[in-house]
Amino acid sequence: MSYALTAEQDMLRHAIREFAEAEIAPKVAELDRTETFSTELVHKMGELGLFGMTISSEYGGQGLDTLSYVIAIEELARVDASQAATVAAENSLGIGPIAALGTDEQKRKYLPDLTSGKKLWGFGLTEPDAGSDAGASKTTAELVDGQWKINGAKIFITNAASPITAGVTVQAITGKRPDGKNEISCVIVEAGTKGFTARQMHHKLVWRSSNTAELFFDNVTVPESHLLGKRGGGFKQMLNTLDSGRLGIAAMGLGGAQGAYELGLHYAKQRKQFGQTIASFQVNAFKLADCATEIEAARALLYRACWLKDNGKPFGKEASMAKLYCSEVMNRVVNRAVQLHGGYGLMEEYPIARFYRDQKLLEIGEGTSEIQRLVIARAIGCFE
Ligand SMILES: Cc1cc2nc3c(=O)[nH]c(=O)nc-3n(C[C@H](O)[C@H](O)[C@H](O)COP(=O)(O)OP(=O)(O)OC[C@H]3O[C@@H](n4cnc5c(N)ncnc54)[C@H](O)[C@@H]3O)c2cc1C
Repeated sequence: MSYALTAEQDMLRHAIREFAEAEIAPKVAELDRTETFSTELVHKMGELGLFGMTISSEYGGQGLDTLSYVIAIEELARVDASQAATVAAENSLGIGPIAALGTDEQKRKYLPDLTSGKKLWGFGLTEPDAGSDAGASKTTAELVDGQWKINGAKIFITNAASPITAGVTVQAITGKRPDGKNEISCVIVEAGTKGFTARQMHHKLVWRSSNTAELFFDNVTVPESHLLGKRGGGFKQMLNTLDSGRLGIAAMGLGGAQGAYELGLHYAKQRKQFGQTIASFQVNAFKLADCATEIEAARALLYRACWLKDNGKPFGKEASMAKLYCSEVMNRVVNRAVQLHGGYGLMEEYPIARFYRDQKLLEIGEGTSEIQRLVIARAIGCFE
């Protein structure tokens, strides 16, 4: 594995950084304060090629490797978690399953609008009573006269109720397996289908300008051809989706840590107390040295997980490790950076306050830190 980025990856990093600083940074505070989802930014990010980055150009994707995708998310998260979340969720949860499991017809129908950023798509797994225990889902899809009849509810679904959402992939119980366990499958539901309601959730602590929705299915009927992937393949498909998704969340932790560290360093070099900059007090300099070191370690862990995926090797354990570590590194970095800001760090007019809030989702979404430790513990043989 080479530790150097390719010239293309380097150029990509610079292009996304430039875009994030010029187009997103000036709007972040207001979008966050007013909890506004920006369709305009999504379209611009689409023009930049940020959706469907790793999928084939046949469907409008960029055909890039996982590391390039992770670098893009890292650069967005360095400036704004909400836009990074919109892009990461769309790539891994919206576009990813359709690209990986869809029939050619499904891909041709849905992907071009999604990869161009004209439309968004959600992935509904979590339910009010089934979060970490995703297998406890209650939503059902029953095949009746060649149509799936769907009933149930989902919660916290990203990109599912925006003004440009075209539909959602829903994980549902489609029957019983021979061993008596639930058969779980994925079914496509287009926005506007009768009986399907997507309601935006407000007053979030985190990701306030990303779109999060509750979904309700009341005798929703869709054609049998809306099955995504194999019937009964839902649980395994979901685990594969989450493995890739975790790399995106890890990239958000890494980029968010980088952004918070830069804010802390900048502030500590400006702020004077007792006649000297606070960065020159060793206790504060050491805080910043710890941040810089942990960010480098997080980057190495995440990039290696990407390398494993890009080289067709198993990467599930490493994706969990990267997600766990990067999100917890960001936790420590934002804590230190707020501490360096003193009272000003607790004021929303200072961006570090937003980083402090946004970080928390990373230890909860796409598998909590406890679930990541469970996955890793299982992978290293603790429970054999
Ligand atoms: C802004 C936002 C966006 C999201 N986007 C999506 C999305 O697009 N699609 C989607 O399907 N979901 C999405 N989610 C849901 C998210 O993935 C869940 O919130 C997460 O998986 C945790 O589930 P839960 O909230 O029900 O918590 P619970 O599962 O109820 O967990 C509560 C606590 O119990 C702990 N716990 C649970 N089980 C165990 C165990 N076995 N051992 C030890 N501790 C345990 C957890 O670690 C946690 O600390 C989103 C959530 C948010 C807030």
